[in-house]
Amino acid sequence: MKSDTEVAIIGGGAAGVAAGRHLHDAGIDCLIIEARNRLGGRAFTETHAGHPIDLGCGWLHSADKNEWTKIAKAQGRKIDETPPPWARSSLGFKPGEQHDYREAFDEFEARVSKLAHADNDVALSAALEPGGRWNGLIGAVITFISGGEAAQVSALDYENYAHTDVNWRAVEGYGAVIAKHGEAVPVVLENAVRRIDHSGKRLAIETAKGTITADRVIVTLPTTVLAETESLFKPALPDKIDAARNLPLGLDDKLFIALERPEEFEKDSRLFGATDRTATATYHLRPFGRPQIEVYFGGQCAADLEANGENAFFDFAASQLADLLGSKFPQRIRPIRIHRWRADPFARGSYSYAIPGMADCRATLAAPVEGRLFFAGEACSPGNFSTAHGGWETGVAAAEQVLHARGSARGCIKSEST
Ligand SMILES: Cc1cc2nc3c(=O)[nH]c(=O)nc-3n(C[C@H](O)[C@H](O)[C@H](O)COP(=O)(O)OP(=O)(O)OC[C@H]3O[C@@H](n4cnc5c(N)ncnc54)[C@H](O)[C@@H]3O)c2cc1C
Repeated sequence: MKSDTEVAIIGGGAAGVAAGRHLHDAGIDCLIIEARNRLGGRAFTETHAGHPIDLGCGWLHSADKNEWTKIAKAQGRKIDETPPPWARSSLGFKPGEQHDYREAFDEFEARVSKLAHADNDVALSAALEPGGRWNGLIGAVITFISGGEAAQVSALDYENYAHTDVNWRAVEGYGAVIAKHGEAVPVVLENAVRRIDHSGKRLAIETAKGTITADRVIVTLPTTVLAETESLFKPALPDKIDAARNLPLGLDDKLFIALERPEEFEKDSRLFGATDRTATATYHLRPFGRPQIEVYFGGQCAADLEANGENAFFDFAASQLADLLGSKFPQRIRPIRIHRWRADPFARGSYSYAIPGMADCRATLAAPVEGRLFFAGEACSPGNFSTAHGGWETGVAAAEQVLHARGSARGCIKSEST
């Protein structure tokens, strides 16, 4: 194992891969140190029965501006531009109901916008209409968007999220694109970092496989991992740990189900398991036209199911589908794969949200320390947080900061010696 490098990058997800590739292409000696046996992190494609499935990120959000779209195309990947199921009519509503629900959601978001610009930040739940017919479903959709329950998520942070409303998919998988992009970069896998000692002239990174020394480090760990890894920094960096705690990872899990006689359903359509509650899943029927259902679980509903083991997800889905589509429907489905992101020790959740009053923590988390500790990862992005392109943006920004710091240091040495 390489035991010395100029720039160590902790974590090989979207941010770490983007940072590593940027530095490597600039000719800088760098090394990604990754705990898993693969690159990609929360971008994770697996192939089942010939179909690549994304257990983490799947949608190229803001696809028309998303750097991963360009990278995927440069890799020769096919991009599917079918509008996402949430932008189309859904099944599961009685006639006229979907229109009412959409109107209620738009009004909710308009109230969020107002609250976000008030002096004191509040939770999204403050924007729910008291006793509103659609509050349950709005709550469910908030868990799909943010991973947190409406009562936990900052209105200002939600408002800060920037998107172009263009959502595409990489047919061979988003995770596959990101992992491929990192292939050229030196990496050590299956090597969890335990401590970053910045007390000496050079950094000493203590890992499962020994100590790696470096001049600079880019830390891209998920916020929950940052906050929960005891004594990660020596000396401690309490501001960073507080910021990470205020930007916890919410929870969303995907279950893939094989579907017999799929033709009954329109390709890329959607069904809500229930429209009157927050604890419901949403069902993406025939993604890419495949004989599958992609089931999405969020917030407390996902957390409760995780606590009951992998089978609980399929049981929940089969029961909701039987209620909606008939008691014989479960005979046509079988589970393919679920990944429990909260139980995953190297993620401990799905994507970050800010707790009320803490949206500024994204900037605190992203700020460099001592000109040699740099930070990246989706949670550092002021407007593209929770996404893989937010990971890319912050990874490249941190790599640029490294190049700048390096240039300044060289300038100092040169002027001291002349
Ligand atoms: C179910 C789900 C659906 C999603 N859907 C979308 C979507 O459609 N579109 C979208 O844009 N985003 C989506 N996301 C979010 C997106 O996947 C993430 O925001 C993005 O991948 C995060 O990238 P990152 O580099 O910031 O973090 P990560 O990918 O988490 O990278 C951090 C890396 O650090 C590693 N690590 C952890 N601990 C250690 C340690 N001690 N030592 C060394 N390495 C360590 C991890 O293994 C990981 O590889 C989804 C996520 C999930 C879970």
